[in-house]
Amino acid sequence: MLRQVAEGVLIHQSEFCQSNAVVVQGRTGVLLIDPGIYGSEMACLANDLSDSGQSVVAGFSTHPHWDHLLWHARFGAAPRYGTPRCAATIRDRLSGPRWKDSIAGMIPPDIAEQISWDLFGLITGLPAEMAQVPWDGPQVRIIEHQAHAPGHAALLIEERGVLVAGDMLSDVLIPMLDLNGTADPIEAYLAALRLLEGAAGDVDVLVPGHGSIGGADQVHARIDQDSAYAHALRDAGVPSDPRVGPSATFGKDWLPGVHERQLQRLAQRSERDGTPG
Ligand SMILES: [Zn+2]
Repeated sequence: MLRQVAEGVLIHQSEFCQSNAVVVQGRTGVLLIDPGIYGSEMACLANDLSDSGQSVVAGFSTHPHWDHLLWHARFGAAPRYGTPRCAATIRDRLSGPRWKDSIAGMIPPDIAEQISWDLFGLITGLPAEMAQVPWDGPQVRIIEHQAHAPGHAALLIEERGVLVAGDMLSDVLIPMLDLNGTADPIEAYLAALRLLEGAAGDVDVLVPGHGSIGGADQVHARIDQDSAYAHALRDAGVPSDPRVGPSATFGKDWLPGVHERQLQRLAQRSERDGTPG
């Protein structure tokens, strides 16, 4: 079911990790950001759109992780965009002979069987200098940063006061660093948070890739919380963060031990090349 979060901006939430698909209404149709997970849920979204006489005129994937790259035939053949690094990363992955196995290996089987890979990852990289999604609707500014995944982008819909954060600023998942993409993943993450803070001054609605929609107060609260987590990682400390440990919404079922694994990988990195974190 579609839920309006701002004028002309609606979300469709998946049962998988509270994933939020975002619909932005334009003049001739909608922009669909991170469309969803299960085939049945995307079909439901397609129904909701066609019932209200709307068609998809463009898609956007915030980053090259599998749960942001799916599509449903009923959304049609609209162009699907991402940043150049996002598109290059997924192109690389799809060029491998066993990409489906390698992705399916990360997903519990009961979830994998509800997913269709038919139109997976068909993303066109926008030119690097393009600062906005090219479409006929409210301006959607691309805020690219190197955190969480290569070419990760948040989208700012200024005239609607909405920040679509991709896999940043979640209230249910801790920051997950891109541990392969940059020399100093913790600093890259903190730089990304500063970038979002600078861009989000007038935001009234925060839509994370996973978790609850936040109001204006949540933008800064979540930036502070994520920044505190990143600092705790740097100091190899124990974060006092409700998203870690037994109280975590998805800590036990979907993503057990993410925090411990991040600590471990960071320690291995600094041992290997002598750099901090
Ligand atoms: Zn992700």
